[in-house]
Amino acid sequence: MPEMVWKPKYKQLCAICRKSHVLIISRGQFPICTSCSMREINKPIEDPKFRKLFDIDQKLYEESSFLRSIKSNYLRFGSLSEKQIEVFRKVAGELATGTGKKPETASSDTQKPRAKPGGSKPAGRQSRVKRPGP
Ligand SMILES: [Zn+2]
Repeated sequence: MPEMVWKPKYKQLCAICRKSHVLIISRGQFPICTSCSMREINKPIEDPKFRKLFDIDQKLYEESSFLRSIKSNYLRFGSLSEKQIEVFRKVAGELATGTGKKPETASSDTQKPRAKPGGSKPAGRQSRVKRPGP
């Protein structure tokens, strides 16, 4: 099966600047480095609805190739489906609050469960509830 030959990750030279290497993690991914794709998507948006949608922290675009691809889709086609808008909002929101898993980097430290702030409460006191007499 030719599918099995596919290596999940390899590096390829950026197709735009031909200087930076790009980590290719999915089939058919366009080899474009972060700085080039940031430049690509950094175009003025006429539609006020989409201008507002895409008006998020630049850092989030740098972090997420997914957000960049949605924005570049919009720039290419001039619109997005409701589903794309919805998922963009969701992913951008999760990234902004630091809860979402990054789809492009599977680094182990993002997988750690978050420790709850402010240690455990001393248990026991609450269980001493007076029982009403018979
Ligand atoms: Zn480049």
